[in-house]
Amino acid sequence: MPETPPSETAKRYEGKAKILYATEDESVLLTVFKDDATAFNALKRGQITGKGQMNCTIAAALFKYLATQGIPTHFITQTAPDQMTVKALQIIPVEVVVRNIAAGSLCRQTGLELGTILPQPLVEFYYKNDDLQDPLLTRDRLLLLNLATPSQVEELAQMALQINQYLTTFFKRCNVTLVDFKLEFGLDPQGMLYLADEISPDTCRLWDDSETDPERRVMDKDRFRQDLGGVAAAYQTVQERVLQAIAQFS
Ligand code: UDP
Repeated sequence: MPETPPSETAKRYEGKAKILYATEDESVLLTVFKDDATAFNALKRGQITGKGQMNCTIAAALFKYLATQGIPTHFITQTAPDQMTVKALQIIPVEVVVRNIAAGSLCRQTGLELGTILPQPLVEFYYKNDDLQDPLLTRDRLLLLNLATPSQVEELAQMALQINQYLTTFFKRCNVTLVDFKLEFGLDPQGMLYLADEISPDTCRLWDDSETDPERRVMDKDRFRQDLGGVAAAYQTVQERVLQAIAQFS
């Protein structure tokens, strides 16, 4: 696995948690995962030691697992502990959130109590726009803004629900409850939809089934958001359990 940092001239995009670099093949990008952590639209900033490597490793494992279940993903290969190559896609600027249990903004915006089990998974769309603070979108607003076609909206929702089923099953094997998570998707030049971005404790809420205490059970970025401590240790536990479960699946 090459450890040399990619050249600055190849840098195409730097986000809050990852940097994207061009490669010799224009259909392939290199993603480097950072230790930087942000929350509340980057009002809170910090570093989680080893997060880049752990999130890259967790995301690579989950992408591989989803691919075995027939989900098209942008993942190609993990080239270093904190680096993966991915298909270059036109990213749809929509965050697709799936929820199984009420937490976070769903509780804040609806008054539902934290931990309420939803009668069926809820799919939500958010506009990926920092200036507007990633607002919740209705499907009609999504169409109004031409962010996707009507059939793409349906495909996004269906894929997100399928991914939720696969991930819920997978995390159960890890003794973890998948509370909610955020996905991003992109289109290839032929218009085919792929799962993109990452799936990691930065983008999921994960509760440890062996803990009942509402703070101790948290294994995801809420530990950072809410200053619960033990952030890196929680990510490390998620990585260990995911890699163990992957070994059992294959
Ligand atoms: N999420 C994310 N990136 C975002 C917003 C949300 O990965 O920009 C994830 C978040 O980690 C959680 C889910 O999406 O797993 C739902 O987040 P929510 O809307 O509850 O927002 P929050 O409470 O984090 O503000």
